[in-house]
Amino acid sequence: MTNGAPAALAELKVRLQEIYDLNGAVAVLYWDESTHMPEGGAAGRGRQIATLQSVIHSKFTAPEIGRLLDQLEPYRAALADDHDDAALLRVSRRDYDRATKVPAAFVSEAALHSSAGYEAWAKARPTNDAALILPFLEKTVDLRRRYADFFPGYQHVADPLIDGNDPGMTVALLRPLFARLRDELSPMVATIATCPVVDDELLHRHYPEAHQWAFGEKLAAAYGYDFNRGGQAKTRHPFCVNFSIDDVRITTRIDEHDLAGGLFSTLHESGHAMYEQGVGHQYSGTPLASGTSSGVHESQSRLWENMVGRSHGLWQHYYPDLQALYPDALGDIPLDNFYKAINKVQPSLIRTEADEVTYNLHVIIRFELELDVLEGKLAVRDIPEEWHARYQKYLGVHSPDHRNGFLQDVHWFQGDFGGGFQGYTLGNVMAGQIYAAALAAHPSIPTEIAAGHFATLKHWLTQEIYTHGRKYEPAELIQRVTGRPLEVEPYLAYLRTKFGALYGVTL
Ligand code: ZN
Repeated sequence: MTNGAPAALAELKVRLQEIYDLNGAVAVLYWDESTHMPEGGAAGRGRQIATLQSVIHSKFTAPEIGRLLDQLEPYRAALADDHDDAALLRVSRRDYDRATKVPAAFVSEAALHSSAGYEAWAKARPTNDAALILPFLEKTVDLRRRYADFFPGYQHVADPLIDGNDPGMTVALLRPLFARLRDELSPMVATIATCPVVDDELLHRHYPEAHQWAFGEKLAAAYGYDFNRGGQAKTRHPFCVNFSIDDVRITTRIDEHDLAGGLFSTLHESGHAMYEQGVGHQYSGTPLASGTSSGVHESQSRLWENMVGRSHGLWQHYYPDLQALYPDALGDIPLDNFYKAINKVQPSLIRTEADEVTYNLHVIIRFELELDVLEGKLAVRDIPEEWHARYQKYLGVHSPDHRNGFLQDVHWFQGDFGGGFQGYTLGNVMAGQIYAAALAAHPSIPTEIAAGHFATLKHWLTQEIYTHGRKYEPAELIQRVTGRPLEVEPYLAYLRTKFGALYGVTL
């Protein structure tokens, strides 16, 4: 302890705690807005959230925080890299730099453009009006390039955008990884397309809501999502949100004629929530108290949703319970038919409805288009046609319109062009690598899952990943957990084994 470090550190922690609590309050307002708030409350709520956010911004970007961080720099430099204080100071410095390098005038210009873009998208999408939306997208791309320039020294213009969601990840690292994935997935999809089509009509029979709700919560609780420190509510677009480590909420939507939609959404969000609930309490009130990146977060939601939730073993144990709840719909359906239906592979136009095998191709198409545009190799006006061309090439499908083409996702039109989509595929790739490491450490996991027990897996993930919060950046975390750098092979092996057996083909 030198240079009066402990006193400055204590002062910094008091300030960070205040910001942490204000962020928790914003999260409660947002959660209520998306679940219980009457429509009439929208304007007032929007203002409350904006007011609090501006308070948070000015508190966090205050020169005092910068001074404390500077003052604590010698203390940090003397610590081992994986000392908790070193991690706290590193992450706080990173957040502080990101928050202070972008001028306030730019932030409000981008925010105004984002709401205008959203409104234009909401008009353009139903009418397939590419001409209406493209000028907005031109401006978005311009804003994103300007944003990147606030972080000089980058190798690729998309790097600072990616870094905001997936710290340390770069185009140089991701491009070859995704290209390899694409080149392996495309033929897999083509092979499966030659197999008899799986009939999933059984998932669209009548499944009254109350049982769906109770069954989803039962499974989430069995996974280890702690309902004493969480809870589920209904919403339109499911999400997970944390107010603190000890209050992490999930949301879902239920359709009485789509059994898989609500159930797997609950399991997906439970994965996100268990990550947040599992963060070590010593990090409470600091910027370390959250998941470390979009990709690692998504690895946990996808692991629990797909690798566990859509596994044959899990349903060996739980399918009889589900049949007992819905004897009319499922009484005469054998387990294997149900298992095939929830894992049906079919190239489609819509990303959010895609299965495990085709999903990443949807993401890779967006990632590649973003890079081409940001590099100036593709004009914004040519996106709609290039979109169709890549869907044809990678997935063998063609959209008759733009609504189910480049206008389907809101992200680009809210200002997020570049830096967002990669997290979804990173999540799947990481999930494959992490799950393989879990199975290597505890070969009994599949047998336990088939008996309805998840504690070994949940405990291992908590110790290896959840408890560390944001202490390690994604690449370092993957290396520590799996003993290897980030790689696509375990994920590809998982897909080949599972879907090869399911479709009776060699993939
Ligand atoms: Zn997710």
